[in-house]
Amino acid sequence: MTFPTALPPDFWLRNAQVPITVLDGAPPADPEGLTRLDIRITDGRIAAIAPAGTASEGIDLDRGQVWPCFVDGHVHLDKTQTWPRQPNPDGTHPGAKTAVIADRGKHYSEEDIEPRFEFGLRCALAHGTAAIRTHLDSYWPNAKAHWSVFRRLRDSWAGRIDLQAVSICPLERFAGDDGVALADEVAVSGGILGMTTTGEGGQASSPAFQALLDRFFSLAEERGLALDLHLDETGDPSSDTLDAVARTALRRNFKAPIQVGHVCSLSVQAAIDAMTTISLCAEAGINVIILPMCNMYLQGRKARRTPRWRGITLVHEFRAAGVPISFASDNCRDPFYAYGDYDMMEVYREAVRIAQLDHPFGAWTASVTTTPAASCGFTDRGRISIGTLADLVIFRARSMNELLSRPQSDRIVLRNGKPIDTSLPDFREMDSIVGAP
Ligand SMILES: [Zn+2]
Repeated sequence: MTFPTALPPDFWLRNAQVPITVLDGAPPADPEGLTRLDIRITDGRIAAIAPAGTASEGIDLDRGQVWPCFVDGHVHLDKTQTWPRQPNPDGTHPGAKTAVIADRGKHYSEEDIEPRFEFGLRCALAHGTAAIRTHLDSYWPNAKAHWSVFRRLRDSWAGRIDLQAVSICPLERFAGDDGVALADEVAVSGGILGMTTTGEGGQASSPAFQALLDRFFSLAEERGLALDLHLDETGDPSSDTLDAVARTALRRNFKAPIQVGHVCSLSVQAAIDAMTTISLCAEAGINVIILPMCNMYLQGRKARRTPRWRGITLVHEFRAAGVPISFASDNCRDPFYAYGDYDMMEVYREAVRIAQLDHPFGAWTASVTTTPAASCGFTDRGRISIGTLADLVIFRARSMNELLSRPQSDRIVLRNGKPIDTSLPDFREMDSIVGAP
């Protein structure tokens, strides 16, 4: 796309098409949910939003789409880019776990994590992401490196990418003193308390599990922490920990935000059970985040057998019940997902295809912008509103069909109203850390 490389402090983007989900109010839209606008940018912020045709001069986008910079609400920046040295031997979830345990034991120092983490941030920035929530492997006391790298990069990347961090380790790691120490580390780091119940079907019915879950909730309550949980990432229908989490949140009247990721097993459970859980989630105010590329890769995989399902949870049913749904990158180039580049337009495009978020496209454009911003608490991110930063992604595509038919590699990213360099870091930069392919 031809676009000026230098812009004055005050200018108009004319004749833009914008998804109405990222705007205040409910302006009239075309059947794809887009509205035509002129947008004035002054001193790096949105100064005016007016119907197309208002401005007499400025940059004519010829109906190209303008989105706010993306919000990626679930990634793993401490694992990223490790694929060359530690691939997943068979592409399964157990294969991923074993591979990560081996790699973590050998390599995960600050000197190893930091350059990979920052490489991921550079990819995300170039693709147009402005806010990220990352999970950090937190097997206390062997996770201090992960949290110090996070704090350092959160501070040095302020103004480029807003960063949040969540602990991830099995729930039972919170049983003893290490659980208290980890919760304290999360609190002093301004983080979110997280754990995983993944892959242990039927565990929710055991009294020991419920006691642990209550302890976990009380660790969060004592410190005023929000929760973000990896739950039921399996095709085993007996994995039903989401139900237990929703009931626990309601019983305890838990007030802080809760986000849950994956919850794949819901889509292979009996409909009556799944719908009961979905209603409980709506009642408890739980936010759900879907990792469509990672779960299509991992779930339903068996050697020499064609996969029969897409690995994702009941996206449309959650939405119909009023549960906020976001989509995110999850793992990129590590044993849990071999591919990925922190490109939220790729995530949205694949989510549309995998979960059939089209015909009509409806309000799903919110699922990579306003919804994850609200679920994670990234204030003023993911929307285009008077006074917000002019952090925008500009596409040549006019319709949703044009947008989703190509990778949009020629997108323009504005930060504070100025175009940034969107060239991607070279994978060769990682060779000294993870080896060359
Ligand atoms: Zn994850």
